[in-house]
Amino acid sequence: MDSIGIYRGGRLWYNGLMKIITTPDARLRERSAKVSKIDDEVSKIIADMRKLSLDWEKDHPYELSAAMAAPQIGVNKRIIIVRDDMEDKKKATFTALINPEVIKAEGKIKTDYEGCLSVPAIYGMVPRASKVRIKARLEDGTEVRIKATDELARTLLHEIDHLDGVLFIDHIRDIPDAFYTMNDKGDLVPVKDYEKEIRDNKKLWGEE
Ligand SMILES: [Zn+2]
Repeated sequence: MDSIGIYRGGRLWYNGLMKIITTPDARLRERSAKVSKIDDEVSKIIADMRKLSLDWEKDHPYELSAAMAAPQIGVNKRIIIVRDDMEDKKKATFTALINPEVIKAEGKIKTDYEGCLSVPAIYGMVPRASKVRIKARLEDGTEVRIKATDELARTLLHEIDHLDGVLFIDHIRDIPDAFYTMNDKGDLVPVKDYEKEIRDNKKLWGEE
């Protein structure tokens, strides 16, 4: 059991502290519910996401935790956090986006590496639109519109996918040479055995 729920006012309250869940956990495959009210529970979820992102990073010296979606800590609500500075590991602040929606995905389709805190040790070359427009609410309730390109666009699309139960591996599932793993020096190297490590790996896809 990795979470405790308590009933307050007739409904189940989120009462972390959660941990990052990984495939094949079914909660990663659910469509998350819209947040109707930004209350203390939502703030608590966001605080835990921030903390767990940074805890994860401590154990992953070659990687930066760029973003996270609430389903990754087992909470199926439409909340994501995105790192404010993706270059500098020392700058560890995140912006939370609530009910983020893709208004438009356009521009060239670009292919680049992606990894996911919920898909341990597997990386992939994933094609994505390079320009997006997003609508969301900030933690204080303000509605914002974000125009993003390249790495930030990729990150936002990856995280919003999580809210619909979609993982980056789904986009490249049938492309053997799109999959990578990390060696002990922190370099990404192609997986040795696509069929065993990817295609037939029940830990990735669960029981289908
Ligand atoms: Zn992810």
